[in-house]
Amino acid sequence: MARIFCIANQKGGVGKTTTAINLAAGIAAHQQRVLLVDLDPQGNGTMGSGIDKRALTTSVYQVLLGMTDVATARQHAEHGGYDVLGANRELAGAEVELVELEHRETRLKVALDVVSDQYEFILIDCPPSLSLLTLNGLCAAHGVIIPMQCEYFALEGLADLVNTIQRVAAHLNPDLRIIGLLRVMFDPRMTLQQQVSEQLEAKFGDKVFSTIIPRNVRLAEAPSYGLPGVAYDRASKGAQAYIAFGAEMIERVSTL
Ligand code: ATP
Ligand code: MG
Repeated sequence: MARIFCIANQKGGVGKTTTAINLAAGIAAHQQRVLLVDLDPQGNGTMGSGIDKRALTTSVYQVLLGMTDVATARQHAEHGGYDVLGANRELAGAEVELVELEHRETRLKVALDVVSDQYEFILIDCPPSLSLLTLNGLCAAHGVIIPMQCEYFALEGLADLVNTIQRVAAHLNPDLRIIGLLRVMFDPRMTLQQQVSEQLEAKFGDKVFSTIIPRNVRLAEAPSYGLPGVAYDRASKGAQAYIAFGAEMIERVSTL
């Protein structure tokens, strides 16, 4: 049975997709079987894994609507060493179409159950919203990983996300918990970032992952080559941090 985690934060551009791709590759580098589910119509997780979103014949969209299954729709991300259930803009329509359907918030969960024993980890890259798509991710998952930048407004909006997670845990998915906050795009030369980072540790204790992902241009360049940063330049500080984060997740999961 796979352990299933959402990478979520309704704030845009905080490093969710970069985390999803590189954690998938980072865990795969530790010889674990990983499925990355792209749950964002932007399809960045798909493209960044080296799979052309415009060429998808089946995607997570058809899976959510019950038109195909995960085993048919998934593809292999060769360089990352993990499988991908891809997404493209078609998925934007699912939001509306799902509303009409029964059990609309548990459709991803039901679909993933079928392949769960084929993976150690399933990672879900959520869109920057608390939409029905994100809700499907939260209902399917055992836990949530929240990437955040250490800036002044970092905690803004976190309360909404925590609230949503608590409501989902209370009503729809009792398994769901916050696994941890991941500090990303970190620049140690910035005093403010240091201060916010310390505040996070003081407030959230061991819910803050000890691995910190630095701001690193190699991570930002990698998607334009269709490669996870971990495969693009394995020796870079960013890649090394995600490989370390992969190890931290494997360790943390063993204690859950
Ligand atoms: P969205 O909310 O639109 O889905 P996101 O939260 O998934 O965005 P990303 O797409 O992962 O965020 O990252 C936003 C931008 O920041 C991208 O251009 C990405 O390449 C860059 N980026 C992410 N992490 C890092 C990092 N550690 N160092 C440098 N650049 C980074
Ligand atoms: Mg994204």
